[in-house]
Amino acid sequence: MTDRLPPGLYLVGTPIGNLEDITLRALRVLRGVDRVLCEDTRETAHLLAHYEIHAPMKSCDEHKEQVCAADAVERIRAGERLAMVTDAGLPGISDPGARVAAAVAAAGLQVVPVPGANAALTALVASGLTAERFLFCGFLPSKAGARRTELERLQAMVAAGGEPLTLVFYEAPHRILEMLEDVAKVWGVECGVVLARELTKLHEEFLRGGVVDVRAQLAERERVRGEMVVLVEARPSVVANADEESIVALMERLMKDEGLSEKDALKRVARERGLGKSEVYREWTRRPGRRARGA
Ligand code: SAM
Repeated sequence: MTDRLPPGLYLVGTPIGNLEDITLRALRVLRGVDRVLCEDTRETAHLLAHYEIHAPMKSCDEHKEQVCAADAVERIRAGERLAMVTDAGLPGISDPGARVAAAVAAAGLQVVPVPGANAALTALVASGLTAERFLFCGFLPSKAGARRTELERLQAMVAAGGEPLTLVFYEAPHRILEMLEDVAKVWGVECGVVLARELTKLHEEFLRGGVVDVRAQLAERERVRGEMVVLVEARPSVVANADEESIVALMERLMKDEGLSEKDALKRVARERGLGKSEVYREWTRRPGRRARGA
């Protein structure tokens, strides 16, 4: 079995929770390679032990990927068979692997995909949302301003495309409430979402509905845990941004009714909303019928 594998890089999909979600071919490849490049050798050690596979492992996390890629090219040139795996799912999908694959392909060497589980597609097919057109967006930026900007960029893109599609995001449990709040601001409170949590695991769960309802269900919980995928029903004709309007309305009220200067009103809104002054200023200058200061 071992000597049937030709030299090359084997990108092997591994389970996203349920250890049974690994293909027979993946197991054969993992048994047949000279070395397994791992995002985290401790995680992969569990998987290999479970299937009694004794291949040597080498760490290839995102910080080492460039070095690892150069080393992989040399080894494959010398006739080695290398597998690349991550902690879960497909290498290269919000995980290390793509740079190693690119380097090996650029060197004219063999890159062999060995398909397996993937959280985004697993969530999508069970979501009930359209899977005909979808966009995988990975993780949003962790900083509030950048996250909002990225959601707005996506909204503009969908609007320009003129067709509804499903957006697929990965998100961490400690940011999920903020993220859904931003989705409501950018895509509107009516926007449909599906939150797929703990896929393939004992406590697998799908929350489906309007973004506000889904957020409220999560907010009621003492603690939100687990791995999650968020799917957003993105429509091109969204009338959203209730928050932007309220920032504008608040600015106007403070300036008109309380006689604050624009600068003081900006400061106050930023403080009250927990936003940066530049973010409030950006919203304020984007209000309909107005032009940015100095423009
Ligand atoms: N390479 C992986 C793949 O192919 O799906 C994704 C790796 S990414 C670093 C990890 C993120 O994927 C998690 O934070 C979560 O958003 C999502 N994820 C992974 N496993 C999951 C699961 N069992 N249920 C829900 N989401 C999962």
